[in-house]
Amino acid sequence: MQAKSVQRVRTRFAPSPTGYLHVGGLRTALYNYLYAKRTSGDFVVRVEDTDQARKVEGADRRLLEVLEATGIVPDESMVNGGNFGPYVQSERLGIYARYCEQLLEQKNAYYCFSTSEELEENRKLQMKQGMQPKYNRKWLPEDMGGSVPLGEIRKKLDEGVPCVVRMRVPDYISVMFDDIVRGPVEFDSSTIDDQVLMKSDGFPTYHFASVVDDHLMEITHVIRGEEWLSSMPKHLLLYEFFGWEPPRFAHLPLLLNPDRSKLSKRQGDVAVEDFLTRGYSPEAIMNFVALLGWNEGEGSEKEIYSLRELIEKFSLERVGKAGAVFNIEKLGWIEKQYIKTRPAEQIMGEIKPLLEEELRQRPTEMDAGRITSADYLGRVIELMRERVDFENEFVTFCDYFYFDPQAYDEKAVLKRWAADTNELLGEFTGVLEGTGDFSAANLESTLKAFVETKGKKPAFLIHPVRILTSGVGFGPSLYDMLEVLGRDAVVRRLRNGIERVPALMS
Ligand code: GLU
Repeated sequence: MQAKSVQRVRTRFAPSPTGYLHVGGLRTALYNYLYAKRTSGDFVVRVEDTDQARKVEGADRRLLEVLEATGIVPDESMVNGGNFGPYVQSERLGIYARYCEQLLEQKNAYYCFSTSEELEENRKLQMKQGMQPKYNRKWLPEDMGGSVPLGEIRKKLDEGVPCVVRMRVPDYISVMFDDIVRGPVEFDSSTIDDQVLMKSDGFPTYHFASVVDDHLMEITHVIRGEEWLSSMPKHLLLYEFFGWEPPRFAHLPLLLNPDRSKLSKRQGDVAVEDFLTRGYSPEAIMNFVALLGWNEGEGSEKEIYSLRELIEKFSLERVGKAGAVFNIEKLGWIEKQYIKTRPAEQIMGEIKPLLEEELRQRPTEMDAGRITSADYLGRVIELMRERVDFENEFVTFCDYFYFDPQAYDEKAVLKRWAADTNELLGEFTGVLEGTGDFSAANLESTLKAFVETKGKKPAFLIHPVRILTSGVGFGPSLYDMLEVLGRDAVVRRLRNGIERVPALMS
């Protein structure tokens, strides 16, 4: 018996190159990617640039770069190539023209010469009459149930009068489909407008081009934002006109602000590029975006997923219908979870160039070879990974590991210095200079033993030592920090500080 052949899954992300990649776009791309990869199918990126007025030069390549930066590599695209190209709609105009011709011949479409003023007037009139604005079919030809003689249409075409092509929506039918996320959805054809398929500039509309392309590119699943749900009747009618089997559809829930208003582009803070520039890592962004509408299952507490795990676990059946709240704090939390567990070598690869750049800009009293060594950076990373919010903070927030402090937190100094603090600090510095063992454990017992001989509590020196060696009053365990800094730096910083502090207190 022959095995039944199962159609290879092919999904697509179809951005319009009108600007940056919106976080909602990334979610659409990711879900399409995950769905395809789960079944070893193909993920296609198609650039939908039929609206020439809104097209931004270079935005298409940039979108693809940002996708790749976040780990989503298309199998087919304008950059990656493929057997179903071109992958940019403005390079496929001849294809749309042919299919438009077919619909005209089949009498599923007709030319419309109405001017924009006429359309506007008609719209206003219908609104006034309390009707839903729709094209009034003024140019519907006589052989399609209208009244315009064919000769008149031919004459206009010969004269080159600007026109569009509209689809002829059948009267009184209902359009139904089964959305993977939303279940059965039904539309009444009386609400459907005779949608423009071809514009007067020779470009197709989004609706027409996307249906033709989804068919020709053998897309099996169209996964996209809920805002496209209302376009479904037009799309399904086009499939019907052509006699094509439609793909399956899944409309993803809207993204919402925490106050449940719709997350818009204008709200800022939604460009994936900006997240990357701000220091969020591709893995965290991806993980965060994956959870905007999908969860593994009832009762699952798991929130950290690698791309590989997502590929294994993702299913459209577990995408919810309700809007997904976009909470930037959650992204911050996820980023921190990644920093806690990311291998030090990987972090080093990211931060070393940043540090080297910093060292080119600013002189340091530290030994540059030592502080850029794997050993040193590895120790800084282990000490600070619980404390940083972003990877770049291993450099920016940990400045004192690489540069002697040039200033001290004045408030901390005023709070922590007593009349005899400097004197004891001086003495203690001498002790440190003579200590053979500069390990955290030994530093701790040395400090404790020293203050005890002076009748003081450890805190009497702990805070001042921290302030003079780091410039600030908070940080990781003092003794660990001193061990990492090393004897030379600690002694030098204490001596410099003891000289500078009195000026702060006068
Ligand atoms: N070009 C459309 C957009 O900008 C694609 C919609 C769809 O996926 O069908 O979102």
